[in-house]
Amino acid sequence: MLPILVQYNEEVLKRFAMLNRTGRLAHAYLFVGPRYVGKKKTALAIAKLLNCEKNTDGQKDVFCDECPSCIKMQVMGHPDVALIAPETEGASIKIEQVRSILEKVKMRAFGTGKKVLIIGEAQHLLTAGANILLKTLEEPSPDTILILTATAMENILPTIRSRCHMVRFSPFSKAALENQLTQHYDESKLASHFLAFSAEGCLGKALQLRDSQSFEKKNQAINRFVLSDDEAYIKNVLEEDEDVKFLLEILEGWVRDAILVKSGISDTRIINFDRMNDLARFAQKLAFKDLTDLYSQVVKAQKMLSENFNIKVALATIKLMM
Ligand SMILES: [Zn+2]
Repeated sequence: MLPILVQYNEEVLKRFAMLNRTGRLAHAYLFVGPRYVGKKKTALAIAKLLNCEKNTDGQKDVFCDECPSCIKMQVMGHPDVALIAPETEGASIKIEQVRSILEKVKMRAFGTGKKVLIIGEAQHLLTAGANILLKTLEEPSPDTILILTATAMENILPTIRSRCHMVRFSPFSKAALENQLTQHYDESKLASHFLAFSAEGCLGKALQLRDSQSFEKKNQAINRFVLSDDEAYIKNVLEEDEDVKFLLEILEGWVRDAILVKSGISDTRIINFDRMNDLARFAQKLAFKDLTDLYSQVVKAQKMLSENFNIKVALATIKLMM
């Protein structure tokens, strides 16, 4: 498991605070968005806020994080809050898990807040579990809120979907993800910039790329393929399709950057922002037409790789064009 420290979504929490204040909370919600975008964290933050002892009048936008209820939430020991999810990645949510969480609906709340039941990765609910859940959704209990999370709405049974209010979670912007990485994960500014670009706004993906040393590897690719003739490196890369794929992605980004630099752009739109000097030299060496031809050649090689063609010659051509 990755050490995921995704923050909850402050905007969504605020929206729920307002719904609570105005007595408009529905009894079932479906949080939809990519993995690691903060759906479960937000569901737990909502549970915390609705049960916070400093928020019994519902006037607060954020939980206090200090009262006995908030502290119980921190250790997942709050009697009015329950979370179930598949026990291992890709596994189904067991029917016993669904039964155990729904038991709470019948029980009286321990505190003065709301009971919050969270079903993570609800796309892994099997039909039997979904049917039990459906019964609960049809006979809602006024002091209970059910929150389901899923990566795609299409994977949730329509009968369940139609009984839930949907809340969409969007990936971060590149700049916001870059900030997350520098502030919460101690990444350097330059590495964060590259990771944020490659991860398309998803923190979980950025963390996976970080753990696989993607930033170091991309600089190795630039040093050993673009800026020098390192036959041993190429030979090594050619042994693994995944490594070829990675190299081509890096080359695509590099040539794209060089075209931008040649067009006078040198701001944060550049992926390889940590290599501006090398990029400028590279862009100067080639004519604009050479760069666009090179870009087409890289894209062609990517297509060949995806169609399982031998890539050795295509890679040599790319090298010659540089
Ligand atoms: Zn509190």
